[in-house]
Amino acid sequence: MTDLPPPQGTTLSHYPQALTVDDFRHNLARVRQRIAEACKRSGRDPASVRLLPVSKTVDESLVRLSCAAGCRELGENKVQEAYRKWQAMSDLADLRWSVIGHLQTNKVHLVARFAHEFQALDSLRLAEALERRLQALGRGLDVFVQVNTSGEASKYGLAPTEVTRFVRELAPYPALRVRGLMTLAMPSPDAARVRPCFALLHDLRERLRQELPGGSEIAQLSMGMSGDMELAIEEGATVVRVGQAIYGARALPDSHFWPASPTDHSLLNP
Ligand SMILES: *Cc1c(COP(=O)(O)O)cnc(C)c1O
Repeated sequence: MTDLPPPQGTTLSHYPQALTVDDFRHNLARVRQRIAEACKRSGRDPASVRLLPVSKTVDESLVRLSCAAGCRELGENKVQEAYRKWQAMSDLADLRWSVIGHLQTNKVHLVARFAHEFQALDSLRLAEALERRLQALGRGLDVFVQVNTSGEASKYGLAPTEVTRFVRELAPYPALRVRGLMTLAMPSPDAARVRPCFALLHDLRERLRQELPGGSEIAQLSMGMSGDMELAIEEGATVVRVGQAIYGARALPDSHFWPASPTDHSLLNP
């Protein structure tokens, strides 16, 4: 792979590119070790944290090497890229695909066809469109409700105050199995700004469990990435979505995947 020069005005992570099955084995072991250490610090069982490898932007040939090293599920941010990879890699049995990025209703038919999980549900319009497609295909889909816990105006996700009502309104959509909540924390090197985002998601789940019938089934908290998974685990994450620490640094800044305001950029470059 060629290394693109860093885009101006962005901070890139230091993770080296993984190019061999051994590189992937090493990186996966390192990530599992980080998860185990964070669990130990917070008195949690490492088996209670699911590692979702995020393969966005990574070429199919390298994704295949990561599968040879043990990845059994893959998270992708953009639906078309995910769908393309799913088609190309359909020879690999038992691979599960999770769509973790914002979805437009005109691409719902793709997700309904191949995804096992959708982590960025944030509107009833989307829920309705997904339900219709899933019913037609006789499929179900695990979903996470995305919450904007950082308060950044440009971030996708529901406002924290809307979450309980929204989950209640998902009841008429039986093909959508609501598994939990998902969030992206404030992009900041300052733990004091990141941690409250994770703590808020945890609080919201506790509220759901108390206020909704069947709320106890909404158990999952998808939060934490390469740079902040320890904080997320300490605050109760049950799913961490990890890309760069497994595959290597991406050439594109995160703002390419999540719309970012000028304020976000100042946070990325403190
Ligand atoms: C890319 C992405 C991740 C993983 O981020 P890394 O820094 O590569 O670990 C997690 N969640 C979402 C929604 C993403 O788009």
